[in-house]
Amino acid sequence: MKKIEIVGGGLAGLSLGIALRRFGIPVLLREASTYPRHRVCGEFINGVTENTLEVLGISQVFSDALRHRSTRWWMGDRQIFEAPLSRPALGMSRWEMDERLRCVFEEEGGVLKTNDRAKPVPREGLVWAAGRHLERESQLLGLKAHFEGLNVDGYLEMHIGEGSYIGLTPITPDGSRVNVCGLFRKGKFRQGGNPIVDALRQSGLEALGDRLDSASMDPGSLTGISGFHLGSQGGKSDLCTLGDAERMIPPFTGNGMSMAFESAECALSHLLHYSSGDLSWAEANERIRHSLDERFRSRVRLALGLHRCLTNAVGRAILRSAACAGVLPFSWLHQKLS
Ligand SMILES: Cc1cc2nc3c(=O)[nH]c(=O)nc-3n(C[C@H](O)[C@H](O)[C@H](O)COP(=O)(O)OP(=O)(O)OC[C@H]3O[C@@H](n4cnc5c(N)ncnc54)[C@H](O)[C@@H]3O)c2cc1C
Repeated sequence: MKKIEIVGGGLAGLSLGIALRRFGIPVLLREASTYPRHRVCGEFINGVTENTLEVLGISQVFSDALRHRSTRWWMGDRQIFEAPLSRPALGMSRWEMDERLRCVFEEEGGVLKTNDRAKPVPREGLVWAAGRHLERESQLLGLKAHFEGLNVDGYLEMHIGEGSYIGLTPITPDGSRVNVCGLFRKGKFRQGGNPIVDALRQSGLEALGDRLDSASMDPGSLTGISGFHLGSQGGKSDLCTLGDAERMIPPFTGNGMSMAFESAECALSHLLHYSSGDLSWAEANERIRHSLDERFRSRVRLALGLHRCLTNAVGRAILRSAACAGVLPFSWLHQKLS
């Protein structure tokens, strides 16, 4: 059996590593950071199927995950609609999820090296699952933190501001702890102030800013990322890329984690054939690229179109009118984007 080296121990890398180990493939996983840690993420997974989790050997990790069944959307300070999800979304904090997957990977006999930053140099047997491609000029900013004292009534809340959106997700069964995560445009923040509240106020989401101000934030959970763009990450064709390293779906969909798992699922059989000598590395890589494109092309294109709509004034006005008139095809969109 030929060895597989995976760079990046996020969801794509860990789940692929676990799946390969279940077939006895030697796997080295190199991760630039350590576990557990907080990550910028809305912490709900839309779309992933039980079958994908079974194929990867990780369904047990989600046995006690929360099941979110309905959502409420606000535009500015006004609620514009409320709807059931066509399929429940899974809920778990990334601190917990990544750590659980790391444990399973090591229990299955995978070799993990942490604090080990690799370079994206294509070579046989190397899978690049190191997340988003760095783009310093990008104006996007992702922020997240956990709060106590926010009542969301068991709903996934989505708030749309000027050029930004933010989600509130319960992460404990009693709803006492809520993840708050948003995508913003870079701006100026007060020294010593709460950057999430500042970003909300700059986006015109004053009422939500007041709600967060009166709740209690866990300062250790506050994280941010910048320097990324959505859509295809434009990787070199001879580098085998998975998850966010291959393409990023806009976060309002809550589908990025599902895509990380699905990309590992797409790659699995081709990597098994490579490892057993039935496929050359170039053939395996080509088949993986094709399979990822088939699976994600139209989903990501639709999501990028809606993202543009959510982040511009005309698009938001159309969305608000459609939602208020009760003609927003939410259920159809939810199915298409998951
Ligand atoms: C604001 C925001 C909110 C989001 N909310 C949601 C949500 O609610 N639901 C959802 O499903 N998705 C959400 N996503 C997307 C989701 O978080 C990602 O799609 C998912 O984490 C991708 O997993 P991944 O394994 O591909 O990459 P990552 O999780 O980014 O993992 C990549 C790993 O590679 C490591 N790494 C990086 N460079 C190197 C290197 N050179 N060498 C070694 N290791 C390296 C990193 O440390 C990291 O651990 C959100 C994204 C953003 C930006």
